[in-house]
Amino acid sequence: MDIEQLPKLDLHCHLDGSLTKSMIEKHLGKEVTREALTVSQDCKSLTEYLEKFDLPLQCLQDEKGLEEGAYTFVEEIAKDKVEYIEVRFAPMLSVHEGLSCRQVIEAVRRGMERGKEDFHVHYGIIVCAMRNHSEEQNLAMLKCAREYLGEGVCALDLAGDESAFPTAQYRNIFQEAKRLGMPYTIHSGETGSLENVREAWELGAARIGHGIALKKDPELMKTYARAGIGVEMCPTSNFQTKAAQSWQDYPLRQFLEEGIKVSVNTDNRTVSGTTMTKELIRVYEQYGRDEELIFTLLQNAADTAFNPKIREIFEKKWKGI
Ligand SMILES: [Zn+2]
Repeated sequence: MDIEQLPKLDLHCHLDGSLTKSMIEKHLGKEVTREALTVSQDCKSLTEYLEKFDLPLQCLQDEKGLEEGAYTFVEEIAKDKVEYIEVRFAPMLSVHEGLSCRQVIEAVRRGMERGKEDFHVHYGIIVCAMRNHSEEQNLAMLKCAREYLGEGVCALDLAGDESAFPTAQYRNIFQEAKRLGMPYTIHSGETGSLENVREAWELGAARIGHGIALKKDPELMKTYARAGIGVEMCPTSNFQTKAAQSWQDYPLRQFLEEGIKVSVNTDNRTVSGTTMTKELIRVYEQYGRDEELIFTLLQNAADTAFNPKIREIFEKKWKGI
């Protein structure tokens, strides 16, 4: 099976953690080491993982960096034959030099649009509210991003330290998103919190990020399956941050057997040192070189994409493979 040549989708990919090394070097005007951007094989913790975002975030503080960052990102994923990307980022992490939320979103959208034209990659932008930001700040970001729904932006997410800031504290944000017709995915169950996975279901999330803790509750797994909630798994990242210890206790197969719409994604291409091809090859090798499994994961991604037209587009692409 030629996974490299297979048209792929990635639903969980952070822009800051996926900027290319050459874009970062060009923007900062200096050489940076691979170690400054990518975690080591024996990454010890989430803390070590998060340190790798320092330099990329510096590149996302002006319009040029945001636009070029997005454009070179699309150029890079096109080489990986990712033909639909839902790229996410937190607009309010890019306002340190005085940009408005609107300027930030528009700059990323320009880069993504140019990338779409040049490299034929369909895209949607997921805006991330941050757990360590105030409710006021998150609501203002949501209000601003909502104006771009269907015009580049496709959904809302909640990112940041899940163990220190439980999802229940953010109910108002998701109630407001629902009122505004903004769909959402929520990082849930990456650091062991089953409560956050349950909360995401109660809040009406269309998808969740990672979802590892869901394996602790058989009833909730059934609920997720029945509701068709997508679970965006990111194996390489999950092992690096210790969200999962090993393939033996990785719940991917278990979730699929329960009928949950699992997809496989990259999370952070540069920080994790990964690509969609690498993720799918790892899964393919790990689960008995099962071609059907790979197609199921890709089909699940297409089914749970925030753009409803994607399934049909990919059905055509996959025909005859
Ligand atoms: Zn993530």
